[in-house]
Amino acid sequence: MKLLETTDVVVVGTGNAASCAALAAREAGAAVLMIDACGEEDRGGNTAYAGGQMRVAFSGVDDLVKVIGGLTDEDIRNTDFGVYTASDFFDDMARVTQYRCNAELVESVIEASLDTLVWLRGKGVRFEAAFGRQASKVDGRMTFWGGLPCIVWGGGQGLIDALHARAASDGIRTLYETPATGLLREGTRIAGVQVLHKGEACEIRARAVVLACGGFEANTEMRTRYLGPNWELAKVRGTRFNTGAGLRMALDAGARSYGHWSCAHSSCWELNAPEYGDPIVKGAYQKHSYPFGIMVNARGERFVDEGADFQTLTYARFGREVLAQPGHFAWQVFDQRAIPLLRETYRIRQVTKVQAPTLEELAHKMEGVDADGFLRTVEAFNGAAPRTDAPYVSSIKDGLTTAGLALPKSNWARPVDRGPFEAYAVTAGITFTFGGLKITTGGEVEDDAGKPIAGLFTAGEMVGGLFYHNYPSGTGLTCGAVLGRTAGRSAAGFAKTF
Ligand SMILES: Cc1cc2nc3c(=O)[nH]c(=O)nc-3n(C[C@H](O)[C@H](O)[C@H](O)COP(=O)(O)OP(=O)(O)OC[C@H]3O[C@@H](n4cnc5c(N)ncnc54)[C@H](O)[C@@H]3O)c2cc1C
Repeated sequence: MKLLETTDVVVVGTGNAASCAALAAREAGAAVLMIDACGEEDRGGNTAYAGGQMRVAFSGVDDLVKVIGGLTDEDIRNTDFGVYTASDFFDDMARVTQYRCNAELVESVIEASLDTLVWLRGKGVRFEAAFGRQASKVDGRMTFWGGLPCIVWGGGQGLIDALHARAASDGIRTLYETPATGLLREGTRIAGVQVLHKGEACEIRARAVVLACGGFEANTEMRTRYLGPNWELAKVRGTRFNTGAGLRMALDAGARSYGHWSCAHSSCWELNAPEYGDPIVKGAYQKHSYPFGIMVNARGERFVDEGADFQTLTYARFGREVLAQPGHFAWQVFDQRAIPLLRETYRIRQVTKVQAPTLEELAHKMEGVDADGFLRTVEAFNGAAPRTDAPYVSSIKDGLTTAGLALPKSNWARPVDRGPFEAYAVTAGITFTFGGLKITTGGEVEDDAGKPIAGLFTAGEMVGGLFYHNYPSGTGLTCGAVLGRTAGRSAAGFAKTF
């Protein structure tokens, strides 16, 4: 087979995890080559679609100023940034994953989270305070909640642009339209990758390989096989290129499968969104303001506790709940109390939306919904919701819960009774899959016997053991950056050993 390139470290992928691995390996002195299946216009994988929020453990605003440039004295005076300790972060990860996440791995991510964001800043990534998303006014002061004050300027695209600019200036080359198809083995170690370079089968020989080429969310067959029936019908929120190829080649090389293979991150997503992510609309198809309203299925019935927890801790499992409903869709319904609070993603042109002055008229406009069933649901809900004029505050679980419903709404429950009303149709959008490979905290891929496979490293969505059942928002990018950086360093260290 044609030898295309020889290098110290080849990194497969051009997303967040891959870029961090490449920069860290280069920083450690290795010659690095990145490859991607996509063309240059699609570089950055799911990362380029991300909102850019990054969860980080911090003990006060002094930590945040190390990450966020441009915080003024006035911002600091007028804002309660709060504190989000390592144990807060760990508790959120443990609770939402039903205490199944790999504690050692999660601790390694949390411990390095602040330092890694500072490192990213040093590589040219700009952060801002997520005032618009994660803060609301409490007693006249902007108050952050949920461990998410840091957002990358320009979102995921800004992150990719900054990391790739730095990679280019550090002398890291990238080959596009070059999908990895297999791993090369030399004796006991992995010695490079087989690729299709613009359609031609070639080899790239390397002293170490970092696989950072995503999960299998864009592979219809694997989704159906591992996640189960009807997952072929989900919309893909991001790139079409994450088809599980990296996972398959690692498993073929003896890697140990690990984590929650039958589960994925999925959220409420515009019903008529295209099959894959749209590079212009990106994350704006998401519909995450359900805590301020109710969600009903084709029978007109509620099917989740819309106020079970902060939206950042429920949205990643609600796509799955929508997919399980008849017809795989739902409508989110809001009244005049809620409508002014809907996120900007409800205000785009590409929405499936109906409006009506009364609930009766709305019921007949929501396509596919049993109107009588819906009216019965709202009547029961309104009878059970507390009569209150307390405004919605997203930063606290307000404890305003329905009384006597078999399926409660545990927080932010207000009657849905002030017209005109709006309803938005959603289906399931899959973000990324949870199943992956078992790694050491050094990013080495383990084999079935629990030993590192020499020369093989991984990071990002390919890592198993981080997420089970659910996911706290802003964790994907942080895990990818921390473990990508680790894998890159380790790969460079390994490459030097012979
Ligand atoms: C709409 C949306 C919004 C999100 N918002 C956030 C957020 O605000 N905060 C957060 O933390 N997370 C967010 N996420 C999740 C986050 O984007 C992912 O967790 C993260 O980007 C994954 O990074 P990665 O490097 O592992 O994979 P990716 O960024 O997906 O990169 C994988 C790369 O591998 C390439 N590839 C695939 N197969 C091959 C192959 N065979 N050979 C070569 N290359 C290959 C792909 O083309 C791609 O470029 C969001 C995701 C989406 C879709």
